[in-house]
Amino acid sequence: MRSSFLPFSRPAIDEADIQAVADVLRSGWITTGSKAAAFEEAFADYCHARGAVALCSATAGMHLMLMALGIGPGDEVITPSMTWVSTVNLIVMAGARPVFADIDRDTLMVSADGIAPLITERTRLIIPVHFAGAPADMAPIRKLAAEKGIALVEDAAHAVGTEYSGRRIGAEGTTIFSFHPIKNITCGEGGMVCSDDPKLLDRIRRLKFHGLGVDAYDRTMQGRSPQAEVMEPGFKYNLPDMAAALGISQLRRIESFIEKRTLLARRYRQALAGIDAILPLSEPAYPIRHAWHLFIVRLDTGKARMGREAFMAALKERNIGTGIHFKAAHVQKYYRETLQLPQGALPNTEWNSDRILSLPLFPDMGIEDVDEVVDTIKEVLA
Ligand SMILES: *Cc1c(COP(=O)(O)O)cnc(C)c1O
Repeated sequence: MRSSFLPFSRPAIDEADIQAVADVLRSGWITTGSKAAAFEEAFADYCHARGAVALCSATAGMHLMLMALGIGPGDEVITPSMTWVSTVNLIVMAGARPVFADIDRDTLMVSADGIAPLITERTRLIIPVHFAGAPADMAPIRKLAAEKGIALVEDAAHAVGTEYSGRRIGAEGTTIFSFHPIKNITCGEGGMVCSDDPKLLDRIRRLKFHGLGVDAYDRTMQGRSPQAEVMEPGFKYNLPDMAAALGISQLRRIESFIEKRTLLARRYRQALAGIDAILPLSEPAYPIRHAWHLFIVRLDTGKARMGREAFMAALKERNIGTGIHFKAAHVQKYYRETLQLPQGALPNTEWNSDRILSLPLFPDMGIEDVDEVVDTIKEVLA
């Protein structure tokens, strides 16, 4: 058994990251300033986006996006139930109705075919999720949204560095990234909205900082105009420079992070191949670059002769951490009670929600850690 606990994720922080944050702390300017602006530029550059706005979380980005698009009572928003609950919570708090698209059983992605039958005259927005570091099949989804005149915002929280048909996620359309500590790069907490619509970005920029007609920081002002006025009520969702400096430093290493994650994921795939009770996700059939945010498997509870919770507990007892990404939104208490979807309404979502778990995957892990996880899985299943 391992002598120390292996978490399912751990941020890859090096001395350069620590130095970058320390430099900001010593500089005399620690909230949103030149580092946040530089992070926006570097991130937009990395994903070939037309523009980017840094925020304190992806959740903040989604909140502002719903406001900017005017989503409210009477509107329907199509998104998977297999997602992080923040999106669904925000749709409901905006007064709109979440309409859940079922996912592919083995990639966990929504598809145009799954979304199309859900569209009504009330549908205002579609939010696909790029799951686990692979992209959703965007070409048909874009075509569908354009034909119907419905807005499209991609949840790219798992997709920093992901590519679809040879282009980075973020290069096209409107995307929201997360820099929470488990994501592929981190700011501690942080998010980024990228878009090829400059008007939309301007609106997000204004809403993120009290609805003032200026950004939180203006380079030419070396701060912010004290005369700035409220143009519309807004929030306090800006990303401080302490966090942005970490983001800039992490972004420099994103390619090596993805390389290492890919190496570890390949090892998992090989080593797990002979274990009947463990079903890894499939990789999409269309051309992609996988950023390997998560290594998700499904436990065949029949073959394992144990439930998923007991399996996770047994791994934990043996010093191996796992996570669940995600428990479907519609089976959680509030949504069970308010939406009352019948059991079986989203068969692939529910099937996965009961069986998925994420195995340890982060850049500072070694190949030998992967082997130890797999050996421990074999031991628990024996
Ligand atoms: C992490 C995550 C979010 C939210 O990101 P935050 O930065 O924590 O707000 C949204 N969607 C998905 C799919 C996520 O995994």
